[in-house]
Amino acid sequence: MFSQLSPAQPDPILSLSLIYNADQRDHKMDLGIGVYRNNQGQTPIMTAISQAEQRLLQTQTTKSYVGLAGSEVFNQCMIDLLLADTSAHSRTAGVQTPGGSGALRMLADLMHVANANTTVWLTDLSYVNHRPVMEAAGLKVKYYPYFDRDTKQVNTDAMLSALAQAGANDVVLLHGCCHNPTGADINFEAWQAITALANNNGFIPFVDMAYLGFGDGLEKDGAGLKFMADNIEEMMIATSCSKNFGLYRERTGAALLVGDTLSNAQKAKGRILTLARASYTMPPDHGAALVADILTSSVLTAVWKQELIMMQQRIIGLRQNLVQTLAAKGCDQFSFIADHKGMFSMTGLSPEKIMRLRDEFAIYAVGDGRINVAGLQEQQIDALATALMTVSQ
Ligand code: PMP
Repeated sequence: MFSQLSPAQPDPILSLSLIYNADQRDHKMDLGIGVYRNNQGQTPIMTAISQAEQRLLQTQTTKSYVGLAGSEVFNQCMIDLLLADTSAHSRTAGVQTPGGSGALRMLADLMHVANANTTVWLTDLSYVNHRPVMEAAGLKVKYYPYFDRDTKQVNTDAMLSALAQAGANDVVLLHGCCHNPTGADINFEAWQAITALANNNGFIPFVDMAYLGFGDGLEKDGAGLKFMADNIEEMMIATSCSKNFGLYRERTGAALLVGDTLSNAQKAKGRILTLARASYTMPPDHGAALVADILTSSVLTAVWKQELIMMQQRIIGLRQNLVQTLAAKGCDQFSFIADHKGMFSMTGLSPEKIMRLRDEFAIYAVGDGRINVAGLQEQQIDALATALMTVSQ
């Protein structure tokens, strides 16, 4: 059977890491894979996570199964974190999932169960895995205008006029904040306008919130999503603790179902549990147990928030520093990098120029032109600025 298979296409981002690891040049720079790094180039375990791990080690008495929905304390913590002080808070059900990816897939499967004719609208450009996940669930995929390749910002008018065509069989996927791969976010007015369109035309919003806290901080990053949830009967949210709790490999995330009533949200949750049973059955416990401990302890929550702000500020500092360094060298072509949010920026560099960065400067970025600003170290900024200028001349 296996011999009949054609070889799999390698993942463009994960395979880049392998080439990077094999590169012998000392000054190599990894701006490819989407992980946060500190100024020493490490992706540290957050202090609150380490403290929660120690507590868990002392208090955990069993490794027996938890249940199909994972930790209900964690699920409630995610609902609180994303939807506190909204009308949606009391009509939302949550399911713990293996990472944000697991949430995307479970929600996609749910959509297919509810309506096999669903078309999911994705931002053009979007996260590299959105389309494969939606299509693997049997859904149709369509793109709506989003990133303006000239201004490097969102083309809000084009986006809204396209979304005005979405209707009852459509689900519109939005990035909660820190758009991957572009770094260009919609503003609060656009959240309001999309909410109004959803209410008028009957499409269902589906928000992928993978970077809460990495753009302008927890409150501002979540404001658009909160407005939408507050003012809509039904929506879906996929969220991830990979970045803002630094739990990448622990596969920690949640699918949230906002219903017109709590009982309808719970009905949808029940269907997800059936889908999960036929798939991975139960999510891994460790990461969710840590997050639940942190978010139910005011002391640990404060430690977590403080470190998250430090990470977010570091990214903003890197963005500003890079743009200022380029300006000092007489280059203003990349000034948009200071306006982008979160870890990534879409540079607009062609695949050939990205290849030159790799070959001539040992700088690794994704072929589509995305750089992970959060992977930079202060002492690398000057070299990156010189390289960007050289390849774009
Ligand atoms: N959504 C987006 C937009 C992402 O960038 C990612 C990857 N970080 C995910 C979902 C999946 O995250 P996770 O590692 O938690 O599965």
